[in-house]
Amino acid sequence: MDNKNTLIIAHRGASGYLPEHTLEAKAYAHALGSHYIEQDLVATRDDELVVLHDIYLDQVTNVAKVFPNRHRDDGRYYVRDFTLKEIKRLSVWERRKPGGTEAVFPRRFPTGVGKFQIATLEEEIKLIQGLNAASGRVVGIYPEIKRPAWHRSEGFDITLLTLDVLSGLGYTQRDDPIYLQCFDLAENKRIRKELGSQLKLVQLIAENTWAESDTDYERLKTESGLQAIAQIVDGVGPWLGQLTKLDGHGSGRTSTGFVRSAHDAGLLVHPYTFRADQLAPGFETFEQMVRWFVRHLHVDGLFTDFPDKALRALQNDVV
Ligand code: CA
Repeated sequence: MDNKNTLIIAHRGASGYLPEHTLEAKAYAHALGSHYIEQDLVATRDDELVVLHDIYLDQVTNVAKVFPNRHRDDGRYYVRDFTLKEIKRLSVWERRKPGGTEAVFPRRFPTGVGKFQIATLEEEIKLIQGLNAASGRVVGIYPEIKRPAWHRSEGFDITLLTLDVLSGLGYTQRDDPIYLQCFDLAENKRIRKELGSQLKLVQLIAENTWAESDTDYERLKTESGLQAIAQIVDGVGPWLGQLTKLDGHGSGRTSTGFVRSAHDAGLLVHPYTFRADQLAPGFETFEQMVRWFVRHLHVDGLFTDFPDKALRALQNDVV
């Protein structure tokens, strides 16, 4: 497969270099040559869409300091309990381990340092569109609707607002530079069938143990499962462990056959997550890992925290 066709998707922006989902991380992702930039979407108390990975605020902001009494009984601070105005008062920092001050990825941007804010979906898209205009290069968006069933249980239809905001900013057609992604198969079906969206859709694939949604991912991963969802979505987003396994000798990787089954069903495959500081077992270097998935498994795109390194791995690949 031609490397030029391998989509480099900046996972939460250039999150290997700047705190995830900040506008700074998105601007840097654009500058580094990413083809698409990812947005995770969560709703505030006053029904605004903000770009944030978790439905919680506590691992990536100083919310516990600014609003010490606003957690729920489980001790977590929920985005849904704060207005946009309140959320704008928070400082974003490099992701920390739960309940402490230790960074999840210690060799990245120092945690607790810098002046970063949470952005709305509209703010982020306007930034990307502005950079597209200024650079003459069309970088696409890759929004993910987070936990639609949970948002519904909180009294809010996050999908309707997402489609409305996207439509207002020019993303309505199949050929528009956007992939819309969700872990919840029922919601993808609804988006395609009931709401009639023409946008390219991607079904994310988790493990059933992660409790991401009611979707049965074991069933989804089978050949017949993939054939069935190809009637609804354009592609799938599996995690790396679903595509490969260590070979019998424990010294290298072998394919699980997933990519071939998905391609046979007519689905694109955009796996997550390629991290230079967290290699999948069996790989010596990031470049080797990227090339193996592209050259050997023929994935169509990849989510990475390090878009520049992924692009360089493929550009230097003269095989
Ligand atoms: Ca995501």
